[in-house]
Amino acid sequence: MITHLTRLRHWSFLIIVTLILWLLNYHMALASDGCSALGIKVNSRFEGARVDHCIITQSGSVKITIEPENEPINDSPWYAFSLRTETPQTVPVAIHYHGGKQRYLPKIRVAEKSWQALTHQVDDNVLHFSVKATAQPKYIAGQELILFEDYVHWNKTISDASSLALSLLGKSVQGRPIQKLVHRTDGNEWIIIIGRQHPPEVTGAMALFPFVQTLMADTEQANAFRNRFNILVVPMLNPDGVHLGNWRHNANGFDLNRDWGKFVQPETRLIGDFLNNIVKEGGRIVYGLDFHSTRRDVFYTMPEDYPIKPAGLTQSWLDSLQNLTADFDVVQQPGTSPGRGVFKQFIADTYQVHAITYEMGDDTDRALINDIAIAAAETFMPAMVNVPQHAFNSVPQ
Ligand SMILES: [Zn+2]
Repeated sequence: MITHLTRLRHWSFLIIVTLILWLLNYHMALASDGCSALGIKVNSRFEGARVDHCIITQSGSVKITIEPENEPINDSPWYAFSLRTETPQTVPVAIHYHGGKQRYLPKIRVAEKSWQALTHQVDDNVLHFSVKATAQPKYIAGQELILFEDYVHWNKTISDASSLALSLLGKSVQGRPIQKLVHRTDGNEWIIIIGRQHPPEVTGAMALFPFVQTLMADTEQANAFRNRFNILVVPMLNPDGVHLGNWRHNANGFDLNRDWGKFVQPETRLIGDFLNNIVKEGGRIVYGLDFHSTRRDVFYTMPEDYPIKPAGLTQSWLDSLQNLTADFDVVQQPGTSPGRGVFKQFIADTYQVHAITYEMGDDTDRALINDIAIAAAETFMPAMVNVPQHAFNSVPQ
């Protein structure tokens, strides 16, 4: 009888586990590998690719459907795939979105790191364009692909050329390395810079790179800045999301920029632990910057009257940035999101200092993103150096 019951328990356990696995699989559906017919081949088996369903129609056009990794989710449908044909031909492509609206405009890779806009139309939330296809795969994506290896290369290059020491911060849900760059001084003040919480937001990456490079440049201003401040840079916090071609989330289906302070995800927790250690060793977090992309160029700041120190610091930085960039409108949007797990809010609430979400527009001119980031760093450094040490924060951390 006992054996019988135990067996029964085993069976119910197995059935429940199977059911859970099936449900998980259903909700975190793996993207398709592409499709192939009539001498036309769509491939989405590469890092950053995303195609959820794909068919080649009788008339030789491609119909792709894009779905989110899980829901609810921020409305940012991401797609990336390659297309080739046995004989050269122009292939019409239609991209349909489930669970989201058209956001990213199609681009085609024309050389190793060079992408061009594709002529397109959007009708009733369906994106249409044509690709001049040949036997050589053409890569098409919602934005330029900036992938894991690009970060590895950039991290190595800047650590070779500067005082930023490259090491492993830890691993993502799926075991991908998350690298950190650390500049240390004798002082105890720390600036925290992070990026790529959200996989498709590559214009944020295009800003983070020149911003950090400017902080590490061999200029009088940058030397003074680095003499005083320790710097932590984690350029890519969500390597799994990037790898999977996710719209927004990590491999567990979580928005990392809703996890700060909660730290239920390994990626955010790695930085949370690092910050705790800084403080334990007598360090002080004095500023946080988080690089993203959205539909326009905007700097999300904390409100003027928020209890952070010193008052007016971010305002005076952005004022100097505006003075330096006459043709660019520095849009500042103060706001709070208490308890929502946003990095900016977490830094402000935990350390009573300023933090900013640095957002570049999806379609902002790429050269302008670079110029603004350099100007932003050149104005950030004196703004920070001018603050007396005691002024950052009077509250014990
Ligand atoms: Zn974002």
